[in-house]
Amino acid sequence: MSQSNIWQDPDLGMVRDVVAHTSDGCVGCLALGTRWNHLMLCLSCGYVGCSDSSPMRHARHHAETSGHPIAQSLHAGDDWRWCYAHDAPITAPYGYRT
Ligand SMILES: [Zn+2]
Ligand SMILES: [Zn+2]
Ligand SMILES: [Zn+2]
Repeated sequence: MSQSNIWQDPDLGMVRDVVAHTSDGCVGCLALGTRWNHLMLCLSCGYVGCSDSSPMRHARHHAETSGHPIAQSLHAGDDWRWCYAHDAPITAPYGYRT
């Protein structure tokens, strides 16, 4: 892959300076009593939901119902985001080139 030809997802314009709603886990799973494997943070509003590797996929559900396409992995050391609108991973550099 060429460094000079990085596609910048236009949905990155939805990214805000967010604070996670909770540090307890997936909001949807905590309400339902279901399990999650991996947590994602919505970068538009701070919703914490489980990723597609979890049975309930609350992060995807949140993206589809709220229109917030970009979520970031909440695991320590992880540095990737997922766009649910394009169903594609987004890796650094995240920002638009100026
Ligand atoms: Zn969940
Ligand atoms: Zn959201
Ligand atoms: Zn996108």
